[in-house]
Amino acid sequence: MIVVLRPDITKRAEAAVLKEIRKLGYKPHVMRGVERTVVGAIGDERTHHTLEALASWPQVEQVMPVQKKYKLVSREAHKGNSVARIKGLSVGGKKFHVMAGPCSVESERQLMTSALAVKKAGATVLRGGAFKPRTSPYEFQGLGEKGLKLLAKASRETGLPVITELLSQDHAEMVAEYADILQIGTRNAQNFQLLIAAAKTGKPVLLKRGLAMKIEEWLLAGEYVLANDNPNLLFCERGIRTFETYTRNTLDLSAVPIIKQESHCPIVIDPSQGCGRADLVMAMCKGAVAMGADSLLVEVHPDPSKAWSDGAQQLSLEGFAKLMKEILPFLAAAGREPAWA
Ligand code: PEP
Ligand code: MN
Repeated sequence: MIVVLRPDITKRAEAAVLKEIRKLGYKPHVMRGVERTVVGAIGDERTHHTLEALASWPQVEQVMPVQKKYKLVSREAHKGNSVARIKGLSVGGKKFHVMAGPCSVESERQLMTSALAVKKAGATVLRGGAFKPRTSPYEFQGLGEKGLKLLAKASRETGLPVITELLSQDHAEMVAEYADILQIGTRNAQNFQLLIAAAKTGKPVLLKRGLAMKIEEWLLAGEYVLANDNPNLLFCERGIRTFETYTRNTLDLSAVPIIKQESHCPIVIDPSQGCGRADLVMAMCKGAVAMGADSLLVEVHPDPSKAWSDGAQQLSLEGFAKLMKEILPFLAAAGREPAWA
């Protein structure tokens, strides 16, 4: 681990840091530069996370591993923010985009009603699942290619690009033919062959965080996309599994500033899977915008009570229109411009 000390550190404060490093079982190796002093903490790599607590010390600027495992997705590799190019849109820049639509594509009428309403409210990307990763094999599995065709039709009629989940490597070419962004779902976040297949289609890839995935593992999964010559990667936080039962998942909003620090790729928040509750979506969206998220992915259904999947978490068309209005001051405070106003 590398411990970077603040430039104005006193001898006494420096000695306290060195003492703590020794106490944790590491040998401090002091390197004095012109501007600042850096300490290499040499010892067992398996426990070196114990040194991370030093980052909260006032005399310490940063604590970092000697070399990060991920390279292409890292901030070190690319200092500025990268923007994902989605048809004519750029996600990750000043303009803020909201992706919205039903959890599952159920019928032409349901999809078209949703698409027209989310567009009217300001969404710039239409979501809809055609291949659904359901926990039970007895639940609705999606309309498959028929659903993709409906998405393509809705896209033609509204002009909205489309995001949909790629569930199997075997479908990569087919899904890429109809979709503008390929979503890799939480259950497949470390399916590396699927990530490679998605990357190779050349379409932008939105990578959901796995249910029990550490941020480092998520960044490394994203590395598969960039390492396979696809620069259009978006990370998507959609909640992780914890002991909490008030929510379906625990939406980890701390992932936003962490991904921003660690990576140049855009970060999208999915509050719908994140909480599993429509009544929490508004608050989580406001929080996500305030924290610096680059985009939102929101489930919206013309009649959530009759939805074939995820009914409890989908916003009504009116609820979505209200959301799009209420997040405007949060966007302004975060220095973003709505792509729709
Ligand atoms: C979804 O977007 O409907 C979905 C199934 O997402 P996740 O993979 O995050 O559960
Ligand atoms: Mn869903």
